[in-house]
Amino acid sequence: MKVLVAGGAGFIGSHLMDCLLKEGHQVICIDNFFIGTKKNIEHLQNHDHFTFYERDLANLDAIDPIFESEGSIEYVYHLAANSDIQASAKNPAIEYHNTYSTTFVLLECMRRYNVKKMFFASTSAVYGEKMGISVAENTPDLMPVSYYGGCKLGSEALISSYAYMNDMKVLIFRFPNVIGPRLTHGVIFDFVKRLRQDPSHLRILGDGTQSKPYIYVQDLVDAIIKFKDVKDVGILLYNVGVEGQTSVTRIADIICEKMGLSKIPYDYTGGRGGWKGDVPKFQYDLTKIHNAGWYASWNSDQAVEQTVEEVLKCRQ
Ligand code: NAD
Repeated sequence: MKVLVAGGAGFIGSHLMDCLLKEGHQVICIDNFFIGTKKNIEHLQNHDHFTFYERDLANLDAIDPIFESEGSIEYVYHLAANSDIQASAKNPAIEYHNTYSTTFVLLECMRRYNVKKMFFASTSAVYGEKMGISVAENTPDLMPVSYYGGCKLGSEALISSYAYMNDMKVLIFRFPNVIGPRLTHGVIFDFVKRLRQDPSHLRILGDGTQSKPYIYVQDLVDAIIKFKDVKDVGILLYNVGVEGQTSVTRIADIICEKMGLSKIPYDYTGGRGGWKGDVPKFQYDLTKIHNAGWYASWNSDQAVEQTVEEVLKCRQ
């Protein structure tokens, strides 16, 4: 099958492409290196079944000719978005361009070139703050508190309308924090970077009690592959996550232990969340995907421990 991975030079997209190529698919990747890197895809450059286009996915005039010239694209995996939520908190236009407009452009190209299948990488951020509730897919009152969550929810709505109007079959996963090799941002990455610069103390945003589930990237990619064939026209939506959550202070403890730093002071900036728009505590209801036969192989703490080791190893 000829497939398009939008945002394939990013952290999750590059792992997904590795799996799709292993399965024998012909993979076309579009990315503009807004956050993704050449390093993430350099091992694929000479692969016979891999083609790369450096383009802005929010520019319809730049993307339409790729659908036309490639022809017969069967499946679009849409992972392009702004993943630096703190940056868009200061400049919402980043989110509108990279998260919402990229969705419109891809859907419009799919409509024009009769592509019927899509995977969309959505997020727990569409739920907003739901303290004390284990959120299920049918949780009412989706009220995102970040521009990122707003543009993802807007993208889901756009996808719903395109799927209905054009008989598309779309798989949407809403997932929490994803970690693993090739990680380029987030709390683990930031803490390791700060401690390498100055191991005498660690500045922690918020009060350290922020707790979220962390899923290992390979677990997520396995789920994308397992559920990629949607039977009926319309949207198939799953929360995809792991058992348990890991607090920010616990992450700091794990990193310090693995770096051999004992009893260094933590300087908390205070407040419940790390920044405005951050959801400090979050818990998923995973009944639907568990009933469909999928479980993550690692829980949240195991995913964190493994990722810390990888981040420490690869940047030495
Ligand atoms: P990432 O930033 O590493 O990957 C996104 C890719 O999209 C990057 O390579 C970036 O360069 C590309 N991109 C962005 N805007 C573009 C544009 N206008 N034109 C072309 N390319 C563009 O992020 P990731 O962590 O791999 O996330 C992949 C997807 O999963 C994103 O849609 C993200 O919102 C979603 N998601 C990620 C997490 C997480 O914790 N990593 C959690 C929930 C959802």
